Amino acid sequence: MKLFKNMNIENNILNIGGLKVTDLAKKYTTPLYVMDINFIEERIKEFKDNFKSKHFKTEIIYASKAFLCKGMCKIIKNMDTHMDAVSGGELYLIKHSNFDMQKVHMHGNNKTYDELLMCFEYNIGCIIIDNYDEARKIVDIAKLKNKKMKVMIRVNVGIDAHTHEYIKTSKHNSKFGVSVYSKQLNEIIHLILKCNLLEFLGFQCHIGSQIFEKEAFLEEIKILIIESKKIENIFGIKIRELDIGGGFGVYYTSEDKPIPIKIFMEFLISTTEKILAEEQMSIEKLYIEPGRSIIANAGCTIYSIGGIKETYGGTKYIFVDGGMSDNIRPCLYQAKYEAIVANRASEDRVQKVTVAGKCCESGDVLIKDYLLQKCEVGDFLVIFSTGAYGYSMASNYNKIPRPAVIFIKDGKDFLAIKRESYDDLIKLDINY
Ligand SMILES: *Cc1c(COP(=O)(O)O)cnc(C)c1O
Repeated sequence: MKLFKNMNIENNILNIGGLKVTDLAKKYTTPLYVMDINFIEERIKEFKDNFKSKHFKTEIIYASKAFLCKGMCKIIKNMDTHMDAVSGGELYLIKHSNFDMQKVHMHGNNKTYDELLMCFEYNIGCIIIDNYDEARKIVDIAKLKNKKMKVMIRVNVGIDAHTHEYIKTSKHNSKFGVSVYSKQLNEIIHLILKCNLLEFLGFQCHIGSQIFEKEAFLEEIKILIIESKKIENIFGIKIRELDIGGGFGVYYTSEDKPIPIKIFMEFLISTTEKILAEEQMSIEKLYIEPGRSIIANAGCTIYSIGGIKETYGGTKYIFVDGGMSDNIRPCLYQAKYEAIVANRASEDRVQKVTVAGKCCESGDVLIKDYLLQKCEVGDFLVIFSTGAYGYSMASNYNKIPRPAVIFIKDGKDFLAIKRESYDDLIKLDINY
């Protein structure tokens, strides 16, 4: 198990950002998401410092779906970074946190008419067009509103990079974007160029998530640049900007071997510079869109242990007061995590356990067959690296209120998102 640099163990108790987990659990009750702001800011700075070129401008776009709340918008704003959105709800939240909407990039494979209208009304920075139907809607809205909009096109380069493997099968069947090799791409570009209210910047691509192979990005960048060059020649236009997406892999367990951000970023920059030179092409700006790699390791979840059950079949269950309702990833894609008994943190790991939640699903297991310290009812269990796709994918299954989120900064804790109340759970219901 790995302790991140913002953590230490003192008198058998785990500290996060200089604060005792046991104190946080008592103050806010459990389950509780904890986000270390200093950690997030350092990560963003690492991206910014190393994703730089002498030949073109660069920009980081935080993929907000990984974790989004007003407080997070403020952090992104303070770090002078861009942010993406994929729905009207995300746009609405970002707008209501006083974020500069010109730094927002709108994604999504099926943006509704109303969501596209919102993009124009909020005057966002750029819409990434997914398909022909969407391009038509955008042209209509631009004319209707007589408003300008910057657009990029999401292309599918035929690479499908998956967790731990680099697959090139089923590559042309993604629901996202339009293939760089398809006629449709030319039709979309025609449509955009015909509308003088739309400013065509270039192409965006995102090849997957939790990627550990640099080669997948090499291939992506190569295809993007070669195909951009062809488009420049066909249409007599300039492709000014490219966005190569996110998906940089992070550490969850010792099975994960992430590439250090500095090395990864330098690779992306040098690869882009090299291929641009080879193709005698130039761009004005290059974007990346990290989500998980900014936020995953900055967060963890504190649970209380409510029961310990040894089954007739020999499995030892540790029951926690949350589960798939606050972390769906183990159920959804067999995601693995590491954990610690926060109030017995320096003790030896002496028992193999399965950590299960309280939801009515046999699959509601957070960690399977894991070596843990001895523990008792009332102890606190911390699961690490739950910062990404934890809260943002949380649900009210079994009418379980979503936990609170707290931020830790400079040794101080404060509430970022309140715990849902039972009243919150029924406030949309209408008596019938
Ligand atoms: C989800 C997503 C990202 C971020 O992916 P991570 O794995 O969290 O880095 C970036 N770009 C697009 C278009 C996405 O859908």
